[in-house]
Amino acid sequence: MPADMQPSVLVVEDETAQREILTYNLEGEGFRVIQAADGNEALLLIEEETPDLILLDWMLPGVSGIEICRQIKVKPALRMIPVIMLSARSEEVDRVRGLETGADDYVVKPFSVIELMARVKANLRRSRPSTVGERLIFDDILLDSETHKVFRGEHEVRLGPTEYRLLTTFLEKPGRVWSREQLLDRVWGRDIYVDTRTVDVHIGRLRKALSRHGGDDPIRTVRGAGYALG
Ligand code: CA
Repeated sequence: MPADMQPSVLVVEDETAQREILTYNLEGEGFRVIQAADGNEALLLIEEETPDLILLDWMLPGVSGIEICRQIKVKPALRMIPVIMLSARSEEVDRVRGLETGADDYVVKPFSVIELMARVKANLRRSRPSTVGERLIFDDILLDSETHKVFRGEHEVRLGPTEYRLLTTFLEKPGRVWSREQLLDRVWGRDIYVDTRTVDVHIGRLRKALSRHGGDDPIRTVRGAGYALG
């Protein structure tokens, strides 16, 4: 799998041994792991890397896990990233407080690694199904992210890597309107300078490929806003 298609997990944990165990296991499951040892480093890396999921220790030196979570969940560009809080606190009131700050899940230490990996995948399945080898389906279009094959009805659709990533993005949220800038961030990555007109060119190619064997154009142009599937 190319590195940019590999789902990324940011591990925020000040205890080195814990961080290493998490990294080892996540890499074993095929994730790209980014590590942060304190809150400030975590906030920087979240902005820079927009990871697909965050494992966030509650007790951190400097900015606490709760505060980091709060900051992520008020930013429109970041709030969709699932956050799993890790905490040695087991009281119900803490669990509720953790979830109230917007954490998507809450795991109490010491945790079973197997269970934690299952939670990571479950949260990704909801937020980015293509990252856990799911089949994405919309109408007569099927994308199998394990085999990287796309079908429309009976016919296999051959796509270039950029068109494939565009279609994946659309299939993860059918009906959602994506601006050209959002598609650039998601498909090309934030660090690469690409003109927004490039998006139009690749949308054109995707449309052509999808209707090669007939069928309606499934991609909708939303004037002044961007593109949507369906
Ligand atoms: Ca800690």
